[in-house]
Amino acid sequence: MTTGHIMNTVRGQMILDHVFPVVEIFSSIQGEGFLIGQPCDFIRLAGCNMNPSCSYCDTKYAQGEVSGTDMPVRDIIKQLTRKPVVVTGGEPCRFQRLDWLVEALIHHGHVVTIETNGTLFRPEVMWHTNVLSISPKLPNAGHMPNMPVLRAWRDAWVPPTVFQLKFVISDSTDIDVAVQTLDELLCACSLQFECGLEVVFQPEGSGDILDRMRWLTVAIADRAFFNRFERVYILPQLHKLLWGNERGV
Ligand code: SF4
Repeated sequence: MTTGHIMNTVRGQMILDHVFPVVEIFSSIQGEGFLIGQPCDFIRLAGCNMNPSCSYCDTKYAQGEVSGTDMPVRDIIKQLTRKPVVVTGGEPCRFQRLDWLVEALIHHGHVVTIETNGTLFRPEVMWHTNVLSISPKLPNAGHMPNMPVLRAWRDAWVPPTVFQLKFVISDSTDIDVAVQTLDELLCACSLQFECGLEVVFQPEGSGDILDRMRWLTVAIADRAFFNRFERVYILPQLHKLLWGNERGV
């Protein structure tokens, strides 16, 4: 069955008619994670479940329930221009039918990254998503990682979905908590999961980024714990270097 046929079924039409509150859709480059620098489109959905919000949140405009405009999936897809698409927020996993959006994107030829804060579990999206990018919140954000949800995502992981854990680091306490989080997740996982895991560290965005990158590089190198990983990255938030906190870029 071709892509067109799938979306022409009754179920396909239901998916295309389903509405999500969209804050913005824009083209830019991926500013974070192992796909950093990749030109892509972003779909930012409204609302976040983290309350009170993370201390460094740069998308507070996307947090309110009413900050988005309801758009059917068919109209969201029409606005996209690039093959790679990042679904972000706010917190996209708030939406029970997030899997429908991802499924429609995949059927229209897109490669999809879901960005989530790791506090809500939507196992259905795992079957369609190319990259699941979880950013567990650390003490610098005013939160701790939600281990039951992170374990649930780990247990639901199926290849070839890429499983990325992205930690925003302010100080050595955050590194301690990131180590605990990884240690706990890896103590009962398959070798396949451990080998496929992408682990990203990025300095929290305030202050001199290059100075913070230097500090973070040395701090990670000092921890023998990280030597076991195949893929650990220390990266800046590229979009912030290029555009600061400007919206829609
Ligand atoms: S989870 Fe993300 S969107 Fe929500 S408050 Fe924290 S940084 Fe902001």
